[in-house]
Amino acid sequence: YAKTNGINRVVEYESKLRDIFVKRIRLENDLKTAVGNNEFSLYYQPKVNLRTGEISVEALIRWKHPQLGMVSPAEFIPIAEETSVIEEIGKWVLQQSCHDFRWLHSSGFSTLKIAVNLSARQFIDSSLKTTVANIFANTNVPPSSFVFEITETTIMKEPNEVIRILKSLKEQGITIAIDDFGVSYSSLNYLNRFPIDAVKIDRSFIRDFHKNEKGAEIVEAIISLAHRLNLSVTAEGVETEDQVRLLAEKGCDEMQGYYFSPPVPLEKLPNVLTKLYSWVRSWKS
Ligand code: C2E
Ligand code: MG
Ligand code: MG
Ligand code: MG
Repeated sequence: YAKTNGINRVVEYESKLRDIFVKRIRLENDLKTAVGNNEFSLYYQPKVNLRTGEISVEALIRWKHPQLGMVSPAEFIPIAEETSVIEEIGKWVLQQSCHDFRWLHSSGFSTLKIAVNLSARQFIDSSLKTTVANIFANTNVPPSSFVFEITETTIMKEPNEVIRILKSLKEQGITIAIDDFGVSYSSLNYLNRFPIDAVKIDRSFIRDFHKNEKGAEIVEAIISLAHRLNLSVTAEGVETEDQVRLLAEKGCDEMQGYYFSPPVPLEKLPNVLTKLYSWVRSWKS
């Protein structure tokens, strides 16, 4: 009996593995036509600067698969990165966000900046610099209104190549931020080696830091180190008022998270921004 049970479990396990495998192949395949079929959209999540009162937004991609429904970027971006589809997706994200930028500006949000996420694969593409410059020129958007968020793993893949590309993007006026800062072992190593402007402290550091002293010390140390290096600091995953208060006390420049707003589709953004601007005014007074 025990043996049969064991075999059943093996069979069950194998069929689960097969499901995962089949889904992966399917996503990989369907990704190839997703841009052309208009299946992607951008959501926007505000970032609030409590010092200056400025608000910016981060563009976060969403994929509405025709049969599977919403697929998370955490699931499909890594797959897109292993194929060259990420280059096409990256281009689409920048183009669409430039388009949305123009619309937001003409709707009265004239100081709004937009952050987009770039993945490792886009960074080793030698045409990135020209692609980006062309998109900004064609959509008539100032590159200085854009922030590129890149993760630590991106940077460490080809450090010298990445430094060269980052410099050329900065020369165009683009702001560079390190996303998910602190999760890799080499975080401190590159702070002075790479031409960056800002760090986004990873959500895992923000989650419990108001509940335990060591966590708070670490966040405080990151903020003060970043400031000494002339980098601006954003906290991601801010969900409670306690976190907001403590982060403000510790001198964190900018905050982002469900406390302020989840990512929302473009058409909902003006409303969310208007509310946040008045929230910031009342916070500061
Ligand atoms: P990320 O850039 O670190 O984005 C933050 C993620 O945390 C987003 O998940 C956001 O919805 C979520 N988040 C924001 N505030 C909170 C909060 O208060 N609590 C919690 N629990 N979560 C919060 P999302 O949109 O699913 O994106 C996941 C990741 O996928 C992003 O992490 C980014 O690395 C990647 N990604 C998203 N859009 C793009 C894109 O256009 N291009 C590339 N290359 N990667 C993207
Ligand atoms: Mg990001
Ligand atoms: Mg992040
Ligand atoms: Mg993160």
